[in-house]
Amino acid sequence: MKQNISRVYLNGEFVDPGEATVSAFDRGFIFGDGVYEVIPVYGGRPFRLPQHLSRLKASLGAIMIANPLSDEQWGKIIDELVQDAGKTDQAIYLQITRGVAPRDHAFPADTTPTVFAYAKPMVYPDTVEIEKGVAAITTADIRWRRCDIKAIALLANVVLRQQAVAQGKAEAILVHNGQVTEGAASNIFVVKENVLYTAPKGEQILPGITRDLVVELARQNNIDCREVSVSEKQLHEADEVWLTSSMKEILPIVEIDGMMVGNGKRGPMHQRMFDLYQSYKDAFRAGTVE
Ligand code: PMP
Repeated sequence: MKQNISRVYLNGEFVDPGEATVSAFDRGFIFGDGVYEVIPVYGGRPFRLPQHLSRLKASLGAIMIANPLSDEQWGKIIDELVQDAGKTDQAIYLQITRGVAPRDHAFPADTTPTVFAYAKPMVYPDTVEIEKGVAAITTADIRWRRCDIKAIALLANVVLRQQAVAQGKAEAILVHNGQVTEGAASNIFVVKENVLYTAPKGEQILPGITRDLVVELARQNNIDCREVSVSEKQLHEADEVWLTSSMKEILPIVEIDGMMVGNGKRGPMHQRMFDLYQSYKDAFRAGTVE
């Protein structure tokens, strides 16, 4: 497996990726018993780090793993990984599993968590996708009921995304009881008559860091943004639909289930929010916003 990664962090050490090995009895491998984060790094600065670390704490707390490191220690590991690639934009992946133990669903109290982290060069959202938009399908949200936890156990998400990709579409928009929850690996926004709508936070969605920033930018710029349930019907009648995630940022969805969203083109509200997001990133790079 060839990856453009110079060193990874594993359990207190920085090692060559080929030397980073974990026991086959790690509960991450056996049960998917762990959580993760993905943090963009712009101009050498981790983007929205306090928000990512606070979501990490919430995920760890929800599955009863004590946070193995302080915020300061996390920051140092990230800085060290980032330094390897200088000021180029990167994405940090952090993963904590419950650690190595004899296979048993119930876990011993004293396992030492396995901590893994690496930085890889940022893969920017595709400019054609931004300008032309992407296609999506809707499908039943077959996931468990604690989607607010950023769990490494992503089997349902993997299968759902693959279902979309197998049909040549970019994302699966998930629907539960007639309401849009989120995408297989993204949050969803709907625009109708210049108002933004996105599912409220709760156990049915991951509280996306990008989602929160879009909500924040909307408020700061007097764009009406409502965190309320969005029905499948509203999705199909929307003027615009977007997906958001740290890696894809804000992408227009212009086709859903083979039907055009609005006029089938990237909409003016997307253009506006995309520009606000890029300006925010520029200000972050320049050190004028946190
Ligand atoms: N929902 C799910 C299920 C995701 O996997 C992701 C991206 N990891 C998101 C939402 C978006 O979260 P963020 O903006 O923090 O990347």
